[in-house]
Amino acid sequence: MDGRIGILGGTFDPIHLGHLIIAQEALATCRLDRVLFVPSADPPHKSVADVAPAEARAGMVALALEGQPRFELCRIELDRTGKSYTVETLRQLRGELGSGTELHLIIGADSAVEMSTWCDPQGVLDLARVTVMGRPGFLPDEVDDLIAARMSFLDSPLLEVSSTQIRFRVRTGLPIRYWVPDNVARFIENRGLYR
Ligand code: ATP
Repeated sequence: MDGRIGILGGTFDPIHLGHLIIAQEALATCRLDRVLFVPSADPPHKSVADVAPAEARAGMVALALEGQPRFELCRIELDRTGKSYTVETLRQLRGELGSGTELHLIIGADSAVEMSTWCDPQGVLDLARVTVMGRPGFLPDEVDDLIAARMSFLDSPLLEVSSTQIRFRVRTGLPIRYWVPDNVARFIENRGLYR
């Protein structure tokens, strides 16, 4: 299949407006046909015991994407065993979608700064165009030079929202309305997540 596909990987514990806004900005600016949201099964830099079950995280992603036909939940990492390395996901997508499809990996500036610690960062850059979206507290200068040279940096609205803050807010009884879509907030409440 030809076209331009955005890929936004994450733990999504939970998905929030920061994720949705960078996906929407990338969709418009990079003229993407669709954006795949790829929840990790076993995030390389987090302990699986510390995150909500993969099915709950994927369920929240599906809810958050309702009503935006160009956004899709992609289960590729959930259906695979072992650590969820981005390079493997891109290789698999490249195989499934064919060489005519442009892959655009969308990441926040914090991930760009960390990318030198990823599994095979040059492999990631060979497989996809990498677009970096601003994130408060992280500067493009902090990105490893060899990696930064192969990325595009996009100006996007800076939102100081993180899944960590949302989990903290739920645990301490603070509202999360407008931090996550309403249906995601209801899911968190009904499942008793993050208490
Ligand atoms: P946590 O607080 O649990 O570490 P997070 O909010 O950083 O989570 P992830 O699911 O780990 O969310 O992030 C997935 C991707 O989205 C990463 O590339 C991250 O940089 C990016 N991202 C998340 N929140 C924002 C934000 N507010 N602005 C820009 N990028 C973001």
